[in-house]
Amino acid sequence: MKASGAGKASVGKIQSKYIDEPSPKFLKLASSLPKHHISLIVWLRTAHIAFNKHLHHIKKSASPLFPYCDKIEMVEHYLTICPQYICKHHILSITLGRSMSSVPFLFRQPKAINLLIAYINSSGRMKETFSNVHPKPVK
Ligand SMILES: [Zn+2]
Repeated sequence: MKASGAGKASVGKIQSKYIDEPSPKFLKLASSLPKHHISLIVWLRTAHIAFNKHLHHIKKSASPLFPYCDKIEMVEHYLTICPQYICKHHILSITLGRSMSSVPFLFRQPKAINLLIAYINSSGRMKETFSNVHPKPVK
């Protein structure tokens, strides 16, 4: 499944019937991010991403479970506890500490965004939808 509109998101147009108006804090953060990172974060925040929970809901997947761990595949599970990605969770926790288990923290904190993007890229889980997403080079 390809994300139509991926890479086309702009800060002023992030609206959906599924999410509230983006917060000023998110808009400020988004203004410093490449568009493909903004798209990815918005898709994750709205949970309308090619995870089996959503695909099952729209009848595009036979099961809502993640094939590797048999848990319902949803954003929080993928980002914080899925045993399939335990090594990648550890890398996040070294830098972010216990805060890495907070999905809102991962989406809102500037210091977490690049690590989150690196996590997503290294997991390969979003590759089919977003291709490779690389963290922003640190200056
Ligand atoms: Zn899992």
